[in-house]
Amino acid sequence: MTRSIDSILTAYPSSDGGGPDRTRLLDMLHDLQGDRGWLPEEDLRALAEGLDTTYLDVVETASFYHLFHLEPAGRHRLHLADTVVARMNGYDEVLEALQRETRAPLGGVSDDGEFGLFTTPCIGLSDQEPAMLIDDVVFTNLKPKRIRRIVQALRDGASARSVAVPGDLPPDTREYVESLVETNVRTRGPVFFRPRVTPAEGVVAEALALAPQEVIERIAESELRGRGGAGFSTGLKWRLAASAPTPRRHVICNADEGEPGTFKDRALLTRTPELVVTGMIVAAHAIGAQSGILYLRGEYAYLEPYLEGQLQWLRQRGLLGRSIGGREGFDFDIRIQLGAGAYVCGEESALIESCEGKRGTPRLKPPFPAQVGYLGEPTCIDNVESFVAVARIIEEGSHWFHSMGTEDSTGTRLISVAGDVDRPGIYEIEWGTSVEHVLHLVGARDPYAVQVGGPSGDCISVAHESTRRIAFEDLGCNGAFTVFDSTRDLLGIVREHMKFFVAESCGICAPCRIGNSVLLDRIDAVRAGRASQRDLDDLERWGTLIRRTSRCGLGATSAKPVLTTLRAFPDVYRRQLSTDTGPLLATFDPSAALDDYLRVAAALTEPNTEAAR
Ligand code: SF4
Repeated sequence: MTRSIDSILTAYPSSDGGGPDRTRLLDMLHDLQGDRGWLPEEDLRALAEGLDTTYLDVVETASFYHLFHLEPAGRHRLHLADTVVARMNGYDEVLEALQRETRAPLGGVSDDGEFGLFTTPCIGLSDQEPAMLIDDVVFTNLKPKRIRRIVQALRDGASARSVAVPGDLPPDTREYVESLVETNVRTRGPVFFRPRVTPAEGVVAEALALAPQEVIERIAESELRGRGGAGFSTGLKWRLAASAPTPRRHVICNADEGEPGTFKDRALLTRTPELVVTGMIVAAHAIGAQSGILYLRGEYAYLEPYLEGQLQWLRQRGLLGRSIGGREGFDFDIRIQLGAGAYVCGEESALIESCEGKRGTPRLKPPFPAQVGYLGEPTCIDNVESFVAVARIIEEGSHWFHSMGTEDSTGTRLISVAGDVDRPGIYEIEWGTSVEHVLHLVGARDPYAVQVGGPSGDCISVAHESTRRIAFEDLGCNGAFTVFDSTRDLLGIVREHMKFFVAESCGICAPCRIGNSVLLDRIDAVRAGRASQRDLDDLERWGTLIRRTSRCGLGATSAKPVLTTLRAFPDVYRRQLSTDTGPLLATFDPSAALDDYLRVAAALTEPNTEAAR
């Protein structure tokens, strides 16, 4: 039975009793799409009316996210991850099989309305690609033969869930999650994935035995830095939030693990969700927060029932809700906010906008979220890995944590290893570990280049830079470590990464919106042998300009695929340069320009012809 708009609206009441809560628009859109399979205009208009806002306001949010469909998208929606690693592992054959078996065109719906076929950026499964989502359920290690079986089963009426996990495993169990996805933890270090000694109750009691200021000092002494990429001091951030003169504060866990090639948070959420939440409770005590949000990327929707179950279990144990740990007045609870596919929402202020039911447009800073964040109130946002580290620091002490790593990068970190290696998966390494040590550890095959930290990180040459260290003072890795052997098309990889940034730019500022497209065009010209040295100089200039003038971290790092490969692999670019030094610029393609001219001329003279179109 079709769910009514009223029942969707009333599921999210405002805390002041004044009707449905506009800030929960993302949840409402998820509910609507879950019911209808897409977001029909008349329903969005009804939703807008119920929220006392405009249809355009609702569409503005819905149209921002890749996973929302404003057109019919099929009874089953298939999103194949289009990533560099998938393309190394048979992506083209899988896509071809999907088109053949579903009879759906890419980006469209099959004539019988059964299947919608789409591509999507990385879905956090680079250790087991090609991979795809079907109606929020993940399918990994895809092969054409398996595609035939999956599509046939769906056509015969099976649900995506029953095809992926035969049997009756409840979706809120770890067994179910691990039947869908291999967790792939390869090494256990001192901090993560340890067999549990102290239960969550013990860690929370330890934190509550300290005054909030003492907790902040303990975290500050450990010199823990954010694991999401920017590496900001966690203690400093907490101090800032705690000192804001306001009674209401929030803690947000950033589980929007969107950097292509990264999947470590997926494993932490699967194996140690209790520690993630424990870290959030500690943060709430330290800064005086009453509410928490776990922002889960839309691609990890299959984890949501399991995580909801974990939160419920913690509530039953008195660790969430009122009087946490028996402490009168310490009230704190967490809700899960499901994202809907937008890389930029990994940026903290964009993530806050998304939590408030809006487009993920990054805010101007300052003020920082620790001062003015969610609902305009001080908010601490930390990464999944950071919260686990917080819980372990409370358990073992700041000196223990500080004794590991390097001067500027204390402790250990998790890396997600993928690409041309024998043992892809998750590894815990001490900060300061060299690239060559990691390559040895993971069984790298003929390593030529390593993308450290995903597309927004550095691409380094194994021949010349393998002694570099993974540490904020050298390679400040955000968790991805992707290896490419000497047969890989490096410029093709750069192209894919730039294509990703062009698609993911929110478009609010010109350097990022326009500049990344210019870089992509120039890379295409280089690959086509239509570029000169002057174009390489332009790449450098444009890249630097985008980096320095963009509003947020996406623009500040989006040129890195170009800039870091230009520096590490200059010969790869030079080999492609045009040798023709005639009167025309090398990048000028006369036949393409003539095509454009002919099209315009045809449109002017015969507007209804195929050529004009
Ligand atoms: Fe948006 Fe890019 Fe500007 Fe960031 S840098 S605000 S993603 S346009």
